[in-house]
Amino acid sequence: MPLPLGHAAIGLTTHDVCSKNNTTFSQWKVVVFVAVLANLPDMDVVIGLIFQGNGSVFHRGPTHSLFFALFMGFLASIAWKFWSQVPKMSFGNCFLVILSHVLADFFFTSSRVSFFWPFEVNWAAGYSGWGDVMNSVFLQSFQDTGIIMGCGLIVILARLTRGYPYNTGIIANAFKILVSQASPLVSYQRERARKSKQDCSYD
Ligand SMILES: [Zn+2]
Repeated sequence: MPLPLGHAAIGLTTHDVCSKNNTTFSQWKVVVFVAVLANLPDMDVVIGLIFQGNGSVFHRGPTHSLFFALFMGFLASIAWKFWSQVPKMSFGNCFLVILSHVLADFFFTSSRVSFFWPFEVNWAAGYSGWGDVMNSVFLQSFQDTGIIMGCGLIVILARLTRGYPYNTGIIANAFKILVSQASPLVSYQRERARKSKQDCSYD
């Protein structure tokens, strides 16, 4: 069951894998912004708690949809224009981080999401008051340990493979230098071979 910590880990992993460089964890504003975006769909729990005293009443509705990820992803990508504290992130990155929440809920939990809202809506069943929500946020986060460890592994693998084309470039360059250094030698050897062949034919 991905809780805020699990969603943040999945969001940070999504951002890191989609980024061209390794700066995701080096800027605290990016970490906070991605963590907020990764948990944005669960704002429906807060709305339910405030207006109905039941966190489940609006849960897994419109905020857990492709449309929400597109719309909020767009707003998040231009938020830096209105508030200088917000880091500049591409629309694609913001969209994917928010979408990662919906997909994580879909794959890791039994209750459905409203992926194609407004064409479908699947409200979460049951009741969860303030106590239940606080309990799961603060006391059950250890349940996401597996997710966080898996995310760490993905980040390491992504960074290793990201370095791969760079390493390949270095190897290709070294090979090119080697060939350019070796080519006069090769042509000299060829010339010698051709000459010796010619000498043979004179016999
Ligand atoms: Zn959710």
